[in-house]
Amino acid sequence: MSEAAIRITGMNKYYGRFQVLRDINLDVGSGERIVICGPSGSGKSTLIRCINRLEEHQQGRIDVLGTELNDDIGNIDHIRRDVGMVFQHFNLFPHLTVLENCTLAPTLARKIPAEEAEATAMTYLERVRIPEQASKFPGQLSGGQQQRVAIARALCMKPKILLFDEPTSALDPEMIKEVLDVMVELASDGMTMLCVTHEMGFARQVADRVIFMDKGEIVEQGRPTELFDNPKNERTRTFLSQVL
Ligand code: ADP
Ligand code: MG
Repeated sequence: MSEAAIRITGMNKYYGRFQVLRDINLDVGSGERIVICGPSGSGKSTLIRCINRLEEHQQGRIDVLGTELNDDIGNIDHIRRDVGMVFQHFNLFPHLTVLENCTLAPTLARKIPAEEAEATAMTYLERVRIPEQASKFPGQLSGGQQQRVAIARALCMKPKILLFDEPTSALDPEMIKEVLDVMVELASDGMTMLCVTHEMGFARQVADRVIFMDKGEIVEQGRPTELFDNPKNERTRTFLSQVL
């Protein structure tokens, strides 16, 4: 495996006294594409939110692109510059246009001149196939279009790692494919991706590795064919029999 983009060792996380993640050990190679699946409440969102410090871990260590995630605000800022996130409910700014959603962070956080940020945004809006929506507001778009804006917005920060938390779970069935198609394209461009999803077709098509979580633990992991066709753990088998 090439140089680790993310290295998590012996990580435990608690919400109050409730232990939500248990002894997580995970190395993600640069350019690796990982799908995380598992029952609701198993800690999938919490795990990926720890990677850009939307949640804090209590024990163990997380290194992202060679920088340790700890209380050092400088480290956190540094890591967040390189790690983009796409959420289940899009989280677009409703009072800003599509284009403004895409240029806000680059102009404010990165001090990119407005014209340059707009040109970059249009490039990515073309890439997710909605340049014609640039002057609309999120509320005027379909769910699938909003999620593609969210992906374009993340790409405008030129991230090295993209985290996806169930990006298609809130979409009507007919819109799932248009979002997955964009994600497949990103995957083939060599983006390091961690994606929480139950879209097994997507996992088979792009994942280098599928990780199955249950009750805060990584229970089993492997290539999609290994994990889906020949799961070794009883909990993995039970889960897969419900979603496949
Ligand atoms: P998943 O994404 O796999 O559904 P989550 O990471 O969202 O799982 O949640 C894992 C567990 O942690 C669940 O039991 C959930 O209720 C709990 N949990 C999630 N967020 C919080 C929070 N902010 N405070 C307390 N408990 C939480
Ligand atoms: Mg979740």
